[in-house]
Amino acid sequence: MSLLSKFVRVIFLTTFLFTEVVFAQIAVPFNESSNVTIAATAPSKIPEGSVSLKDILTKAGSSYQIWRWNDHDQILLDGAKKLASTTEIITLSKEAHSKEIRDKILLSGINTPKTFNDIVAMIGVTDNSKVIDQIIQTNCDKCTRFQMTRLADMTKAYIPQDETLSKALKKTTDFEQALDCANRMHYQDTTNKALLEVMKKAEFYFDYLILAGKATEPVKSQILLEGLKHCKTFDEIIDLGVRTTDQNILDKIVEKAIPLAKSSSDLKILSSWTKNTDLLKKIAETKLPETDPSQYNRLKLLKSLREKYGINIYDDGKARWTNEQLVWLDETLQTLPKHIIDAPSDILPAVSDNAFLLGDTRSEKFYNQATKKIETTTPVVRIYESGMRNEKTFKEYLVHEMTHAYISNKDGILNNWVHKFWPDAQPMITSAVTVSWVGTAPNPPSVSDYGNVSPSEDLAESARMFWVDPVTMKQNYPDRYDFVYKYIFGKEYNPPKLHSQ
Ligand SMILES: [Zn+2]
Repeated sequence: MSLLSKFVRVIFLTTFLFTEVVFAQIAVPFNESSNVTIAATAPSKIPEGSVSLKDILTKAGSSYQIWRWNDHDQILLDGAKKLASTTEIITLSKEAHSKEIRDKILLSGINTPKTFNDIVAMIGVTDNSKVIDQIIQTNCDKCTRFQMTRLADMTKAYIPQDETLSKALKKTTDFEQALDCANRMHYQDTTNKALLEVMKKAEFYFDYLILAGKATEPVKSQILLEGLKHCKTFDEIIDLGVRTTDQNILDKIVEKAIPLAKSSSDLKILSSWTKNTDLLKKIAETKLPETDPSQYNRLKLLKSLREKYGINIYDDGKARWTNEQLVWLDETLQTLPKHIIDAPSDILPAVSDNAFLLGDTRSEKFYNQATKKIETTTPVVRIYESGMRNEKTFKEYLVHEMTHAYISNKDGILNNWVHKFWPDAQPMITSAVTVSWVGTAPNPPSVSDYGNVSPSEDLAESARMFWVDPVTMKQNYPDRYDFVYKYIFGKEYNPPKLHSQ
């Protein structure tokens, strides 16, 4: 090694260690025959203006050979400030020697993502949950509501997760989509605030009942009061009243309900709900109509439906069918083949605080000692208040539940279904007499997201789609269409073109 080159090396080290960084001449090969001059080793910062990713990598690469990791990483970090594309930032961050620098590079490019995919790619580079959350928080506004809920799922801590969800909530005008955001939140305080936001998108009095069920005081009362404005009938007001013990609200409810009372039992309920002397006086002075036509019609309708279909159709505790719902029930049942109508013993309304529970069908398998056979109890179908919100939901999910009821004692149909559409499903023994199927995914995918949950939900969803719109079903899911037609509705069934729009 010549004296000159030793000298040059000393200068190099000195300049490099005492200045922040970088390049230009550093890339010059450094060996015995080098004719590097002292001037050439003068330190230089990353130049002002634009620098390409390639420049930075080249310069960092030369530092990689000659200098320590710190210098190499520092070059990357300084270079990161010059880049405007997420892909470049990611490439750069992968060159970092320490995780700390990798994350600093990502944070330095935190504003570069333009799309959902950019954000996902960026958070895929790091395992630091704080950095992941920060990237999502900074960029989630650039995404659609659906993408934002997906980002919320990827967020690591609850507080930023709730924040992302409340931003997503503001991006939709759809009640159910907004409710979905509120439902995923973790802290009741944030949930309450979100519920007030969701309330702005509510349309039906049912919507308010669902929201009130999720809220805590004082937000719950606020929602119930708002919901009261949307109640049109005595039954609706009573539905609201059973959900609160707040005397102020109860008095307001009673006041609004008095003129709508149709029977002495209606008035009895109202007088049990208030201690206000003015209201009690009003109740005492209320003159009832001679007969009670609406109540009479409702009870008459219930009775006629029981006789028409041979199914126990009653009110159930707190839940009461409205006239309108009974008409929907009738309109739906009359489109179904007799063997499906004959499946359940009861169809009942149900109250629930779970906004996502639209309906359920319950039956149990048991071993019959006398017949020495495994038998199934006759299924009971329940439609929850979320499932009764509007005509379309009501009718479609009634068909879904009726399908569950029909196949509850027909394991052969479900087994065939599994073999045809759920190639990887495994039988799971859930009790001495019950086997259910668990699978990861149907092939091809089901007609709805919910259908992908399990083989029996897939079948119930497919039957629902068949009923709603057989023409589209036949086009898009020909194999499922054939199966549902043959094994659920039966070949004699005449599918109309469209049941729902
Ligand atoms: Zn189901």
